Amino acid sequence: MSSEQTPTVTPASAPKIGFVSLGCPKALTDSELILTQLRAEGYETSKTFAGADLVIVNTCGFIDDAVKESLDTIGEALAENGKVIVTGCLGAKAGAGEGTNLVKDVHPSVLAVTGPHATQEVMDAVHQHVPKPHDPFIDLVPEARGVAGIKLTPKHYAYLKISEGCNHRCSFCIIPSMRGDLVSRPIGDVLSEAKALFESGVKELLVISQDTSAYGVDVKYRTGFWDGKPVKTRMYDLAARLGEMAREHGAWVRMHYVYPYPHVDEVVPLMAEGLILPYLDVPFQHAHPDVLKRMKRPANGEKNLDRLRRWREICPEIVVRSTFIAGFPGETEEEFEYLLDFLKEAEIDRAGCFAYSPIDGAPANELPGALPDEVREERRARFMAVAEEVSIAQLQRRVGATMQVLVDSAPALGRKGGVGRSYADAPEIDGTVRLLPPEKASKTLKVGEFTRARIVAVEGHDLIALPI
Ligand code: SF4
Repeated sequence: MSSEQTPTVTPASAPKIGFVSLGCPKALTDSELILTQLRAEGYETSKTFAGADLVIVNTCGFIDDAVKESLDTIGEALAENGKVIVTGCLGAKAGAGEGTNLVKDVHPSVLAVTGPHATQEVMDAVHQHVPKPHDPFIDLVPEARGVAGIKLTPKHYAYLKISEGCNHRCSFCIIPSMRGDLVSRPIGDVLSEAKALFESGVKELLVISQDTSAYGVDVKYRTGFWDGKPVKTRMYDLAARLGEMAREHGAWVRMHYVYPYPHVDEVVPLMAEGLILPYLDVPFQHAHPDVLKRMKRPANGEKNLDRLRRWREICPEIVVRSTFIAGFPGETEEEFEYLLDFLKEAEIDRAGCFAYSPIDGAPANELPGALPDEVREERRARFMAVAEEVSIAQLQRRVGATMQVLVDSAPALGRKGGVGRSYADAPEIDGTVRLLPPEKASKTLKVGEFTRARIVAVEGHDLIALPI
Protein backbone atom coordinates (compact mmCIF):
# COMPACT_ATOMS: atom_id res chain seq x y z
CA MET A 1 0.00 0.00 0.00
CA SER A 2 0.95 3.62 -0.29
CA SER A 3 2.58 5.79 2.38
CA GLU A 4 -0.26 8.15 1.83
CA GLN A 5 -3.15 8.29 4.17
CA THR A 6 -5.40 5.55 2.86
CA PRO A 7 -8.70 5.37 4.54
CA THR A 8 -9.26 1.71 5.38
CA VAL A 9 -6.04 0.54 6.86
CA THR A 10 -6.62 -1.20 10.14
CA PRO A 11 -3.33 -2.76 11.11
CA ALA A 12 -3.83 -6.22 12.52
CA SER A 13 -1.83 -6.91 15.66
CA ALA A 14 1.65 -8.11 14.78
CA PRO A 15 2.57 -11.75 15.38
CA LYS A 16 4.73 -12.33 18.43
CA ILE A 17 7.86 -14.39 18.53
CA GLY A 18 9.36 -15.73 21.76
CA PHE A 19 13.13 -15.80 21.77
CA VAL A 20 15.64 -17.52 24.05
CA SER A 21 19.32 -16.89 23.54
CA LEU A 22 21.75 -19.28 25.18
CA GLY A 23 25.52 -19.51 24.90
CA CYS A 24 28.48 -17.33 24.13
CA PRO A 25 28.80 -13.78 22.72
CA LYS A 26 28.96 -15.14 19.17
CA ALA A 27 25.62 -16.83 19.66
CA LEU A 28 24.35 -13.57 21.10
CA THR A 29 25.37 -11.72 17.93
CA ASP A 30 23.44 -14.27 15.91
CA SER A 31 20.45 -13.67 18.16
CA GLU A 32 20.75 -9.92 17.62
CA LEU A 33 20.78 -10.40 13.87
CA ILE A 34 17.69 -12.58 13.97
CA LEU A 35 15.86 -10.23 16.36
CA THR A 36 16.78 -7.23 14.22
CA GLN A 37 15.43 -9.01 11.19
CA LEU A 38 12.24 -10.01 12.99
CA ARG A 39 11.69 -6.43 14.05
CA ALA A 40 12.46 -5.13 10.58
CA GLU A 41 9.73 -7.33 9.22
CA GLY A 42 7.23 -6.15 11.81
CA TYR A 43 7.18 -9.10 14.20
CA GLU A 44 6.96 -8.34 17.90
CA THR A 45 8.69 -10.24 20.64
CA SER A 46 6.93 -12.01 23.45
CA LYS A 47 8.30 -12.30 26.96
CA THR A 48 6.50 -15.58 27.56
CA PHE A 49 6.35 -18.82 25.58
CA ALA A 50 2.60 -19.01 26.01
CA GLY A 51 2.02 -15.50 24.66
CA ALA A 52 4.03 -16.13 21.49
CA ASP A 53 2.90 -17.37 18.09
CA LEU A 54 6.19 -19.22 17.75
CA VAL A 55 9.39 -19.60 19.77
CA ILE A 56 12.98 -19.52 18.54
CA VAL A 57 15.65 -21.10 20.73
CA ASN A 58 19.24 -20.18 19.96
CA THR A 59 21.20 -23.01 21.50
CA CYS A 60 24.68 -23.78 22.76
CA GLY A 61 26.34 -27.16 22.35
CA PHE A 62 29.72 -26.49 23.86
CA ILE A 63 29.71 -28.46 27.12
CA ASP A 64 27.33 -31.11 28.43
CA ASP A 65 25.67 -28.70 30.83
CA ALA A 66 25.02 -26.30 27.97
CA VAL A 67 23.61 -29.13 25.84
CA LYS A 68 21.30 -30.14 28.67
CA GLU A 69 20.20 -26.57 29.28
CA SER A 70 19.46 -26.12 25.58
CA LEU A 71 17.51 -29.37 25.28
CA ASP A 72 15.54 -28.58 28.45
CA THR A 73 14.69 -25.11 27.16
CA ILE A 74 13.47 -26.54 23.85
CA GLY A 75 11.34 -29.03 25.82
CA GLU A 76 9.80 -26.23 27.90
CA ALA A 77 9.07 -24.15 24.83
CA LEU A 78 7.42 -27.13 23.13
CA ALA A 79 5.31 -27.89 26.18
CA GLU A 80 4.13 -24.31 26.62
CA ASN A 81 3.87 -23.21 23.02
CA GLY A 82 4.23 -26.14 20.63
CA LYS A 83 5.76 -24.20 17.72
CA VAL A 84 9.53 -24.11 18.09
CA ILE A 85 12.44 -23.36 15.75
CA VAL A 86 15.92 -24.26 16.93
CA THR A 87 19.09 -22.54 15.77
CA GLY A 88 22.67 -22.29 16.99
CA CYS A 89 25.54 -24.65 17.74
CA LEU A 90 23.50 -27.49 19.15
CA GLY A 91 21.40 -27.45 15.99
CA ALA A 92 24.53 -28.42 14.07
CA LYS A 93 25.24 -31.50 16.24
CA ALA A 94 24.70 -34.91 14.73
CA GLY A 95 22.45 -37.43 16.46
CA ALA A 96 23.12 -41.08 17.24
CA GLY A 97 22.42 -42.53 13.81
CA GLU A 98 24.00 -41.59 10.49
CA GLY A 99 22.55 -38.40 9.02
CA THR A 100 20.47 -37.68 12.12
CA ASN A 101 20.36 -34.59 14.23
CA LEU A 102 20.62 -34.52 18.00
CA VAL A 103 17.89 -31.93 18.52
CA LYS A 104 15.51 -33.80 16.19
CA ASP A 105 16.34 -37.09 17.97
CA VAL A 106 15.34 -35.69 21.34
CA HIS A 107 12.55 -33.37 20.21
CA PRO A 108 11.13 -34.67 16.91
CA SER A 109 8.29 -32.12 16.89
CA VAL A 110 10.45 -28.99 16.47
CA LEU A 111 9.50 -27.18 13.28
CA ALA A 112 13.01 -26.54 11.98
CA VAL A 113 16.62 -26.88 13.09
CA THR A 114 19.55 -24.84 11.78
CA GLY A 115 23.16 -24.43 12.77
CA PRO A 116 24.73 -21.13 13.90
CA HIS A 117 24.95 -17.96 11.70
CA ALA A 118 21.80 -18.91 9.85
CA THR A 119 19.63 -15.80 10.03
CA GLN A 120 18.13 -16.31 6.61
CA GLU A 121 17.30 -19.97 7.17
CA VAL A 122 15.69 -19.11 10.50
CA MET A 123 13.68 -16.34 8.85
CA ASP A 124 12.59 -18.70 6.07
CA ALA A 125 11.31 -21.11 8.71
CA VAL A 126 9.55 -18.29 10.58
CA HIS A 127 7.86 -17.09 7.37
CA GLN A 128 6.67 -20.60 6.67
CA HIS A 129 4.91 -20.93 10.03
CA VAL A 130 4.01 -17.33 10.95
CA PRO A 131 3.61 -15.14 7.85
CA LYS A 132 5.19 -11.71 7.73
CA PRO A 133 2.94 -9.01 9.10
CA HIS A 134 4.56 -5.85 8.15
CA ASP A 135 3.87 -2.96 5.82
CA PRO A 136 7.25 -1.32 5.30
CA PHE A 137 5.71 1.95 4.31
CA ILE A 138 3.98 2.42 7.63
CA ASP A 139 5.88 0.45 10.24
CA LEU A 140 9.40 0.67 9.18
CA VAL A 141 10.21 4.00 7.75
CA PRO A 142 12.94 5.21 10.03
CA GLU A 143 12.57 8.75 11.28
CA ALA A 144 15.99 9.75 10.08
CA ARG A 145 18.69 7.39 9.09
CA GLY A 146 22.20 8.54 9.73
CA VAL A 147 24.98 7.41 7.48
CA ALA A 148 25.87 4.62 9.87
CA GLY A 149 22.31 4.11 11.07
CA ILE A 150 20.89 0.72 12.00
CA LYS A 151 19.32 -0.92 9.04
CA LEU A 152 16.18 -2.81 9.84
CA THR A 153 15.54 -4.37 6.47
CA PRO A 154 17.07 -7.55 5.07
CA LYS A 155 20.68 -6.93 4.22
CA HIS A 156 20.14 -6.60 0.49
CA TYR A 157 17.51 -3.88 0.30
CA ALA A 158 16.94 -0.62 2.13
CA TYR A 159 14.55 2.29 2.22
CA LEU A 160 15.93 5.75 1.67
CA LYS A 161 13.68 8.46 3.00
CA ILE A 162 14.22 11.74 1.22
CA SER A 163 11.67 14.03 2.84
CA GLU A 164 8.98 14.35 5.49
CA GLY A 165 5.54 15.92 5.31
CA CYS A 166 3.54 17.09 2.34
CA ASN A 167 2.46 20.37 0.75
CA HIS A 168 -0.79 18.98 -0.64
CA ARG A 169 -4.09 18.93 1.17
CA CYS A 170 -5.94 15.93 -0.22
CA SER A 171 -9.36 15.94 1.35
CA PHE A 172 -9.22 12.33 2.62
CA CYS A 173 -5.79 12.65 4.20
CA ILE A 174 -4.55 13.89 7.57
CA ILE A 175 -0.82 13.41 6.99
CA PRO A 176 -0.10 17.14 6.51
CA SER A 177 -1.84 17.95 9.78
CA MET A 178 0.22 15.29 11.56
CA ARG A 179 3.59 15.71 9.89
CA GLY A 180 3.41 19.23 8.53
CA ASP A 181 4.51 20.63 5.20
CA LEU A 182 7.19 19.12 3.02
CA VAL A 183 10.70 19.21 4.47
CA SER A 184 13.31 17.83 2.08
CA ARG A 185 16.45 16.31 3.50
CA PRO A 186 19.64 17.96 2.23
CA ILE A 187 20.74 16.25 -0.97
CA GLY A 188 24.28 15.76 0.35
CA ASP A 189 22.95 13.81 3.37
CA VAL A 190 20.67 11.70 1.21
CA LEU A 191 23.46 10.81 -1.21
CA SER A 192 25.93 10.07 1.60
CA GLU A 193 23.42 7.71 3.15
CA ALA A 194 22.83 6.03 -0.19
CA LYS A 195 26.58 5.56 -0.67
CA ALA A 196 26.94 3.99 2.79
CA LEU A 197 24.05 1.65 2.08
CA PHE A 198 25.45 0.52 -1.27
CA GLU A 199 28.85 0.04 0.33
CA SER A 200 27.29 -2.11 3.05
CA GLY A 201 25.95 -4.50 0.42
CA VAL A 202 22.50 -3.09 -0.36
CA LYS A 203 21.45 -4.25 -3.83
CA GLU A 204 18.16 -2.42 -4.03
CA LEU A 205 17.51 1.08 -2.77
CA LEU A 206 13.88 2.09 -2.39
CA VAL A 207 13.36 5.84 -2.44
CA ILE A 208 10.40 6.88 -0.30
CA SER A 209 8.63 10.03 0.91
CA GLN A 210 5.06 11.35 0.75
CA ASP A 211 5.69 12.88 -2.66
CA THR A 212 9.01 12.00 -4.25
CA SER A 213 8.39 14.20 -7.27
CA ALA A 214 8.12 17.26 -5.00
CA TYR A 215 11.61 16.73 -3.57
CA GLY A 216 13.34 20.09 -3.10
CA VAL A 217 10.26 22.29 -3.69
CA ASP A 218 10.44 23.56 -0.09
CA VAL A 219 14.07 24.68 -0.48
CA LYS A 220 13.53 26.06 -4.01
CA TYR A 221 15.70 23.26 -5.45
CA ARG A 222 18.67 24.66 -3.52
CA THR A 223 22.11 23.64 -4.74
CA GLY A 224 23.84 21.41 -2.21
CA PHE A 225 27.15 19.64 -2.31
CA TRP A 226 28.14 16.04 -2.51
CA ASP A 227 31.50 14.52 -3.17
CA GLY A 228 32.88 18.06 -3.63
CA LYS A 229 30.49 18.89 -6.47
CA PRO A 230 27.37 21.03 -6.60
CA VAL A 231 24.12 19.15 -6.99
CA LYS A 232 20.55 20.44 -6.96
CA THR A 233 17.94 19.31 -4.44
CA ARG A 234 15.68 18.02 -7.20
CA MET A 235 14.13 14.70 -8.17
CA TYR A 236 15.95 14.49 -11.49
CA ASP A 237 19.38 15.22 -9.97
CA LEU A 238 18.74 12.83 -7.12
CA ALA A 239 17.65 10.04 -9.49
CA ALA A 240 20.63 10.60 -11.79
CA ARG A 241 23.20 10.57 -8.96
CA LEU A 242 21.61 7.55 -7.27
CA GLY A 243 21.49 5.76 -10.61
CA GLU A 244 25.19 6.36 -11.25
CA MET A 245 26.06 5.12 -7.77
CA ALA A 246 23.85 2.06 -8.17
CA ARG A 247 25.51 1.24 -11.48
CA GLU A 248 28.94 1.23 -9.82
CA HIS A 249 27.67 -1.21 -7.21
CA GLY A 250 25.62 -3.37 -9.55
CA ALA A 251 22.47 -2.40 -7.65
CA TRP A 252 18.92 -1.19 -8.30
CA VAL A 253 17.18 2.10 -7.47
CA ARG A 254 13.40 2.07 -7.24
CA MET A 255 11.33 5.24 -6.86
CA HIS A 256 8.11 5.25 -4.86
CA TYR A 257 5.34 7.90 -4.69
CA VAL A 258 5.93 9.76 -7.88
CA TYR A 259 3.14 12.05 -9.07
CA PRO A 260 2.63 12.48 -12.79
CA TYR A 261 3.89 16.07 -12.89
CA PRO A 262 5.38 17.39 -16.13
CA HIS A 263 8.91 17.47 -14.70
CA VAL A 264 8.81 13.70 -14.11
CA ASP A 265 9.03 13.40 -17.92
CA GLU A 266 12.76 14.08 -17.70
CA VAL A 267 13.28 11.25 -15.19
CA VAL A 268 11.84 8.64 -17.58
CA PRO A 269 14.90 8.68 -19.91
CA LEU A 270 17.00 7.68 -16.87
CA MET A 271 14.81 4.57 -16.71
CA ALA A 272 15.27 3.94 -20.43
CA GLU A 273 19.03 4.17 -19.93
CA GLY A 274 18.85 1.64 -17.10
CA LEU A 275 20.13 4.03 -14.43
CA ILE A 276 17.04 3.63 -12.28
CA LEU A 277 14.44 0.88 -12.49
CA PRO A 278 11.63 1.42 -15.01
CA TYR A 279 9.13 1.18 -12.18
CA LEU A 280 6.80 3.94 -11.14
CA ASP A 281 4.72 3.90 -8.02
CA VAL A 282 2.13 6.58 -8.75
CA PRO A 283 -0.69 6.98 -6.24
CA PHE A 284 -3.46 8.02 -8.65
CA GLN A 285 -6.33 7.37 -6.17
CA HIS A 286 -8.89 8.01 -8.95
CA ALA A 287 -9.11 8.90 -12.61
CA HIS A 288 -12.28 10.95 -13.04
CA PRO A 289 -11.43 14.68 -13.05
CA ASP A 290 -14.43 15.61 -10.86
CA VAL A 291 -13.62 13.03 -8.21
CA LEU A 292 -9.98 14.10 -8.26
CA LYS A 293 -11.13 17.67 -7.72
CA ARG A 294 -13.24 16.65 -4.74
CA MET A 295 -10.26 14.71 -3.45
CA LYS A 296 -8.13 17.85 -4.00
CA ARG A 297 -5.51 15.69 -5.68
CA PRO A 298 -2.35 17.31 -7.01
CA ALA A 299 -2.57 15.65 -10.45
CA ASN A 300 -5.04 16.26 -13.24
CA GLY A 301 -7.08 13.23 -14.35
CA GLU A 302 -7.38 14.04 -18.05
CA LYS A 303 -3.66 14.39 -18.59
CA ASN A 304 -2.60 11.32 -16.62
CA LEU A 305 -3.38 8.88 -19.40
CA ASP A 306 -1.49 10.93 -22.01
CA ARG A 307 1.44 11.27 -19.72
CA LEU A 308 1.59 7.52 -19.05
CA ARG A 309 1.43 6.83 -22.78
CA ARG A 310 4.29 9.22 -23.42
CA TRP A 311 6.37 7.66 -20.67
CA ARG A 312 5.83 4.22 -22.16
CA GLU A 313 6.85 5.48 -25.58
CA ILE A 314 10.17 6.64 -24.12
CA CYS A 315 10.59 3.54 -21.99
CA PRO A 316 8.33 0.62 -22.98
CA GLU A 317 9.44 -1.52 -20.02
CA ILE A 318 7.87 0.84 -17.48
CA VAL A 319 5.78 -0.93 -14.89
CA VAL A 320 3.19 1.18 -13.07
CA ARG A 321 1.90 0.42 -9.61
CA SER A 322 -0.81 2.53 -8.07
CA THR A 323 -3.42 2.76 -5.35
CA PHE A 324 -7.03 3.86 -5.73
CA ILE A 325 -10.03 4.65 -3.59
CA ALA A 326 -13.47 3.31 -4.55
CA GLY A 327 -16.70 4.82 -3.24
CA PHE A 328 -15.39 8.31 -2.43
CA PRO A 329 -18.23 10.63 -1.28
CA GLY A 330 -20.38 11.63 -4.24
CA GLU A 331 -18.81 9.09 -6.64
CA THR A 332 -21.43 8.27 -9.27
CA GLU A 333 -21.67 4.93 -11.08
CA GLU A 334 -20.52 6.75 -14.21
CA GLU A 335 -17.46 8.19 -12.44
CA PHE A 336 -16.63 4.77 -11.09
CA GLU A 337 -16.89 3.18 -14.53
CA TYR A 338 -14.61 5.90 -15.86
CA LEU A 339 -12.09 4.72 -13.28
CA LEU A 340 -12.43 1.10 -14.48
CA ASP A 341 -11.85 2.23 -18.07
CA PHE A 342 -8.77 4.15 -16.99
CA LEU A 343 -7.41 1.07 -15.28
CA LYS A 344 -7.72 -0.90 -18.52
CA GLU A 345 -6.48 1.80 -20.87
CA ALA A 346 -3.57 2.78 -18.66
CA GLU A 347 -2.66 -0.91 -18.26
CA ILE A 348 -1.81 -0.45 -14.63
CA ASP A 349 0.43 -3.38 -13.84
CA ARG A 350 -0.21 -3.47 -10.10
CA ALA A 351 -3.22 -1.79 -8.55
CA GLY A 352 -4.41 -1.73 -4.96
CA CYS A 353 -7.82 -0.40 -3.99
CA PHE A 354 -9.38 0.70 -0.73
CA ALA A 355 -13.06 1.15 -0.14
CA TYR A 356 -13.39 4.71 1.12
CA SER A 357 -13.83 5.04 4.85
CA PRO A 358 -13.67 8.32 6.73
CA ILE A 359 -10.67 9.20 8.86
CA ASP A 360 -11.13 11.41 11.92
CA GLY A 361 -10.22 14.97 11.06
CA ALA A 362 -10.20 14.57 7.25
CA PRO A 363 -12.12 17.28 5.35
CA ALA A 364 -13.69 14.67 3.03
CA ASN A 365 -15.92 13.64 5.95
CA GLU A 366 -17.90 16.86 5.39
CA LEU A 367 -18.48 16.21 1.68
CA PRO A 368 -22.06 15.49 0.62
CA GLY A 369 -23.04 12.21 -1.01
CA ALA A 370 -21.49 9.66 1.37
CA LEU A 371 -22.13 6.20 -0.08
CA PRO A 372 -23.43 3.23 1.89
CA ASP A 373 -20.78 0.75 3.03
CA GLU A 374 -22.12 -1.99 0.74
CA VAL A 375 -21.72 0.22 -2.34
CA ARG A 376 -18.15 1.15 -1.42
CA GLU A 377 -17.27 -2.49 -0.81
CA GLU A 378 -19.02 -3.67 -3.94
CA ARG A 379 -17.10 -1.12 -6.03
CA ARG A 380 -13.84 -2.12 -4.44
CA ALA A 381 -14.51 -5.75 -5.34
CA ARG A 382 -15.42 -4.82 -8.92
CA PHE A 383 -12.29 -2.71 -9.17
CA MET A 384 -10.10 -5.54 -7.93
CA ALA A 385 -11.62 -8.00 -10.41
CA VAL A 386 -10.70 -5.69 -13.32
CA ALA A 387 -7.31 -4.88 -11.80
CA GLU A 388 -6.53 -8.57 -11.60
CA GLU A 389 -7.44 -9.17 -15.23
CA VAL A 390 -5.24 -6.28 -16.35
CA SER A 391 -2.39 -7.34 -14.13
CA ILE A 392 -2.47 -10.97 -15.22
CA ALA A 393 -2.56 -9.96 -18.90
CA GLN A 394 0.53 -7.81 -18.28
CA LEU A 395 2.26 -10.70 -16.50
CA GLN A 396 1.40 -13.16 -19.29
CA ARG A 397 3.40 -11.03 -21.70
CA ARG A 398 6.52 -11.89 -19.76
CA VAL A 399 6.31 -15.63 -20.30
CA GLY A 400 9.31 -16.68 -22.38
CA ALA A 401 11.34 -13.60 -21.43
CA THR A 402 14.60 -13.72 -19.50
CA MET A 403 14.71 -11.39 -16.53
CA GLN A 404 17.17 -10.29 -13.90
CA VAL A 405 15.91 -11.47 -10.51
CA LEU A 406 17.10 -10.38 -7.07
CA VAL A 407 16.98 -13.39 -4.76
CA ASP A 408 15.10 -12.83 -1.47
CA SER A 409 15.03 -16.38 -0.21
CA ALA A 410 16.96 -19.47 -1.24
CA PRO A 411 17.13 -22.24 1.34
CA ALA A 412 19.93 -24.75 0.76
CA LEU A 413 21.59 -22.42 -1.79
CA GLY A 414 18.52 -22.63 -3.97
CA ARG A 415 18.83 -26.32 -4.76
CA LYS A 416 15.11 -26.61 -4.18
CA GLY A 417 14.44 -23.24 -5.76
CA GLY A 418 13.77 -19.92 -4.08
CA VAL A 419 11.92 -16.64 -4.25
CA GLY A 420 13.03 -13.41 -5.83
CA ARG A 421 11.80 -10.28 -7.52
CA SER A 422 12.30 -8.68 -10.90
CA TYR A 423 12.42 -4.92 -11.55
CA ALA A 424 8.63 -5.08 -11.74
CA ASP A 425 8.19 -6.17 -8.12
CA ALA A 426 8.83 -3.96 -5.09
CA PRO A 427 9.36 -5.91 -1.87
CA GLU A 428 6.30 -6.63 0.26
CA ILE A 429 3.75 -4.91 -1.96
CA ASP A 430 4.01 -6.59 -5.37
CA GLY A 431 4.20 -10.16 -6.57
CA THR A 432 7.34 -12.27 -6.63
CA VAL A 433 9.26 -14.45 -9.01
CA ARG A 434 9.17 -18.02 -7.77
CA LEU A 435 12.38 -19.68 -8.81
CA LEU A 436 12.38 -23.35 -9.76
CA PRO A 437 15.33 -25.54 -8.78
CA PRO A 438 18.11 -24.78 -11.29
CA GLU A 439 18.60 -27.45 -13.95
CA LYS A 440 22.39 -27.22 -13.79
CA ALA A 441 23.78 -28.84 -10.65
CA SER A 442 26.51 -26.18 -10.46
CA LYS A 443 24.03 -23.29 -10.36
CA THR A 444 23.31 -21.93 -6.88
CA LEU A 445 21.09 -19.11 -5.65
CA LYS A 446 22.11 -16.77 -2.87
CA VAL A 447 20.00 -14.28 -0.97
CA GLY A 448 20.89 -10.73 -2.01
CA GLU A 449 22.42 -11.74 -5.32
CA PHE A 450 21.03 -11.46 -8.81
CA THR A 451 20.27 -14.36 -11.07
CA ARG A 452 18.96 -14.47 -14.60
CA ALA A 453 15.83 -16.51 -14.99
CA ARG A 454 13.57 -17.54 -17.84
CA ILE A 455 9.89 -16.91 -17.13
CA VAL A 456 7.92 -20.10 -17.73
CA ALA A 457 4.48 -19.42 -16.26
CA VAL A 458 2.20 -17.06 -14.34
CA GLU A 459 0.59 -18.11 -11.08
CA GLY A 460 -1.74 -15.57 -9.49
CA HIS A 461 0.28 -12.38 -9.10
CA ASP A 462 3.58 -14.23 -9.30
CA LEU A 463 5.80 -15.42 -12.09
CA ILE A 464 7.40 -18.84 -12.16
CA ALA A 465 10.92 -18.87 -13.57
CA LEU A 466 13.82 -21.16 -14.25
CA PRO A 467 17.21 -19.80 -13.10
CA ILE A 468 19.75 -19.95 -15.93
S1 SF4 B 1 -0.29 14.01 -1.51
FE1 SF4 B 1 -2.31 14.07 -0.57
S2 SF4 B 1 -2.66 11.97 0.15
FE2 SF4 B 1 -0.47 12.19 -0.21
S3 SF4 B 1 0.35 12.78 1.80
FE3 SF4 B 1 -0.01 14.67 0.63
S4 SF4 B 1 -2.04 15.29 1.30
FE4 SF4 B 1 -1.83 13.14 1.87
